[in-house]
Formats: sequence, structure tokens, C-alpha cells
Amino acid sequence: MDVSCLLIDEAQFLTPAQVDDLFRIAINYDIPVLAYGIRSDFLTAAFPGSRRLLEIAHSLEELKTICRCGRKAVFNGRVIDGGFVFDGDQVAIDEGGAQAEHVVTYESLCGACYLQESGDQLGRPLEEGRAPRD
Ligand SMILES: [Zn+2]
Repeated sequence: MDVSCLLIDEAQFLTPAQVDDLFRIAINYDIPVLAYGIRSDFLTAAFPGSRRLLEIAHSLEELKTICRCGRKAVFNGRVIDGGFVFDGDQVAIDEGGAQAEHVVTYESLCGACYLQESGDQLGRPLEEGRAPRD
């Protein structure tokens, strides 16, 4: 099979090992790999796959999103049943459609709107004994 390019969407869900494999494909087979995804989760922590992409990508191109206030959006707020939440698992996707118990959506937010909605909370507290770079 002749592959001219690999396009990856939702790249934040890749594991770091999968990102490394894509890097090897790009180098060893000279196949361009274009990965699209978001940088951080609803608590502003990097997705492991996104972090690895930032570490080894040949080039980065930012696709800008606008917050409801008109500023550049940098975060993704999680909205459950119409209200922002700032606690929970890193990944939560509404898979049940109309039958789902709760409606989970995301809204792109600028830093100011994120702080306003979160009550000035920024980021996930580091677990005890965990180094900042883990
Ligand atoms: Zn805003």
C-alpha cells in the first residue's frame, strides 16, 4: 500500500508510545504525519499524548479559537447539564446521545473566563509526592 500522508484527529487521546510510533513512521518511511488535537484538559493539565507531540513534533501550528467574550480561547471548560464543572476524570465524553444520564459538552474559554467560571481555580492540584514534571 502506498501511503502519502497520515492524518490524525483527536490526537490528545494518543498515548505517548503511539506518538513515538508515529514519529518513527514519519522518519523511517518518510511519510508526513499531521496530528490535530487540543493541548490540555478541562483542568488545564496536558493530555499525555499532546505533551509528547509538543515535545517531538517537527513543527506546530496553532488553530485559534475564540472565547464567547471575543478573546483568544486557550482552555476547554467542561459543561455538564448546562453548568461548568472543575472536578472529574480527564476524559468524559457524552456517548449516550439522547438516552445519556448527563449531557457533557465543552466550551472554549479564554484565561479570564476560565478563572471566572472556576472561581479562580487554575489547574489540577499535584498529588502528594508527585513531581511537577511527572
Ligand atoms: Zn473569555
